[in-house]
Amino acid sequence: MDLKDKVAVVTGSTRGIGLAIARELAERGARVVLSGRNAERLQEVVEQFQKQAWTALAVQADVSQPEQAAQLIQKTLDKWGAVHILVNNAGITRDTLLLRMRDEDWDAVLNTNLKGAFHCTRAVARPMMKQRYGRIINISSVVGLIGNAGQANYAASKGGLIAFTKSVARELASRNITCNAVAPGYIETDMTEVLDEKVKQALLGQIPLGRLGNGKDVAHLVAFLASDLAAYITGQVINVDGGMVML
Ligand code: NDP
Repeated sequence: MDLKDKVAVVTGSTRGIGLAIARELAERGARVVLSGRNAERLQEVVEQFQKQAWTALAVQADVSQPEQAAQLIQKTLDKWGAVHILVNNAGITRDTLLLRMRDEDWDAVLNTNLKGAFHCTRAVARPMMKQRYGRIINISSVVGLIGNAGQANYAASKGGLIAFTKSVARELASRNITCNAVAPGYIETDMTEVLDEKVKQALLGQIPLGRLGNGKDVAHLVAFLASDLAAYITGQVINVDGGMVML
């Protein structure tokens, strides 16, 4: 899983799973573009990378905004002249029951989780097609496969991301660009920290491997899909969930 000479853009890489992915790719030799909305946090993370002697560029971008997503890719091209790997990881939740869900809860989640991935993928498509090489990895969720009460907006965004992945995989395959989705189960990050202890215990009962996941569990799979070893895998959804969902 050597990623030397590769340039990787990871959206939402200032915390949680995205940060674990960015670290994993950097450890394997990739030049990594770190990104998120919070400029201060972005600066802290890029300094951590520099301390490790990893090559990183920080670009502030809100992926829900098409111009900012396009700029994220353009700044990467300006700096390093290529984008080989795109990880669409940026995501949010606005959980509530359907009857209480406001339009803005729906729009915020869909605009970040699904439209954000569309904006970034559209922006990398042309340079990847020209270079006849690309690895696009979309971070979906098991909730996008099986649904979840209280997460109609989030589940729709993650299910949409799976259908988007398969369409992009078909459309770009002839140019040697693969596109796959990773569907994590429950991973310990800021996003899941809000769950109370009782809910976590109940979840543990549904996970055959008996623990919640961590960022590295997801990052290892992303590094594999981003590498040349995964050249013949496209349009797939791979769960990283301790066996919670077996379809
Ligand atoms: P966190 O909340 O810990 O981190 C989210 C990251 O996304 C942050 O870096 C945040 O930075 C960034 N982000 C949020 N909105 C935007 C935006 N509009 N534009 C750019 N960056 C944005 O989440 P996780 O690490 O837990 O989740 C990462 C991904 O994994 C998400 O897509 C999530 O849906 C998915 N996932 C997570 C699971 C879990 O159990 N944790 C399970 C299944 C899937 P900033 O706020 O600075 O913008």
